[in-house]
Amino acid sequence: MKTCELAKKCGGCKYQGMPYEKTLAIKQKKLKDLLGGFGKVLPILGMKEPYHYRNKVTAAFARLRNGTIVSGVYQEGTHRVINVDECLIEDALADQIICDIRGMLKSFKIKVYDEDSGYGLLRHVMVRRGFATGQVMVVLVLSSPILPSKNNFVKELRRLHPEITTVILNVNDKRTSMVLGERNITLYGKGYIEDVLCGLRFRISPTSFYQVNPVQTEMLYRTAIDFAGLKGKERVLDAYCGIGTIGMAAAADAGEVIGVELNQNAVRDAVNNAKHNGVKNITFYQEDAGRFMVQLAEQREHIDVVFMDPPRSGSDEAFLSSLVRLAPKRVVYISCNPETLARDLKFLCGKGYRMEKAQGVDMFGWTEHVECVVLLSRVKK
Ligand code: SAH
Repeated sequence: MKTCELAKKCGGCKYQGMPYEKTLAIKQKKLKDLLGGFGKVLPILGMKEPYHYRNKVTAAFARLRNGTIVSGVYQEGTHRVINVDECLIEDALADQIICDIRGMLKSFKIKVYDEDSGYGLLRHVMVRRGFATGQVMVVLVLSSPILPSKNNFVKELRRLHPEITTVILNVNDKRTSMVLGERNITLYGKGYIEDVLCGLRFRISPTSFYQVNPVQTEMLYRTAIDFAGLKGKERVLDAYCGIGTIGMAAAADAGEVIGVELNQNAVRDAVNNAKHNGVKNITFYQEDAGRFMVQLAEQREHIDVVFMDPPRSGSDEAFLSSLVRLAPKRVVYISCNPETLARDLKFLCGKGYRMEKAQGVDMFGWTEHVECVVLLSRVKK
């Protein structure tokens, strides 16, 4: 078992210092406590190698009173940055790139952003790595669209790390705790990376959601698709579809797939991904999933199976009540927050659905986060 000196301050790995098996037992118990009343909870699927699994690393930058520049995470419950050189769950190359950027700031005279005064340029650095393709994206989050001597900066960064395939300047000029702003300017390469999941190639833009643990993601998606029990002819909805990963992985077993997602860049990625993988029976819509469901229900559309993968806050009344009206025979609910999942299950199980089974997948080893897939089937006409 590896240990981390920063665990207490950082607070990300709540279960650091325990044997990995014990952490899985805690997560299993949490799922059982929250979901056991609805149906069967299968044993959680753990990771083979629970270290350095995170393919996306975001570091905040700050200047200490003595002038030292630090980069890493906010100390738990504060906005004080603690310096991280290496993290046990983050991709090691990504950590190295972030350290090297920190080392370059002085000679390039780049000032780090100060949250209190709003002065300074560099706010965050985000690194994303395609584990299957080796492609590496570096996103420099700046308070202004202008990076002085940007060409030399990129040149030096690529000299240190020839693995980098694209460098993007993201402009975040708002007084906000959100990491990324809306505008992206490509400084080098294509402006996105690609990764391979379930035999399909996906393009990922800086602001698109992409699961952070690629090995476990395949396990998660395979479980979800297995639960859906598709026979080849069904009309399937992939709600909260991101860049279209689940819907595209399911498309070969379905008649038709419809994807809906709010983030415009993610939808653009999804459309591209379908085209480049030759998946022809899928269509994407950029819309609030709840509003979209209401429209489907009003138009009395027929849907056989729904995949839904909402953010931590779970789904909403508009979505869930329209889902009940659409009455698909199966719903596969993928959740990164068993508390909101239990809340939504309570609604659906009171309105004609039954939870057949739940399967935990450990996507966020050592942290207290628990991912889970649930199969619901329609019991009432
Ligand atoms: N299924 C995808 C994405 C899951 S993350 C995957 O596995 O990669 C949740 C997604 O829901 C994000 O892409 C987010 O942009 C999207 N989202 C958040 N709120 C939404 C809403 N109200 N309507 C539609 N999509 C939403």
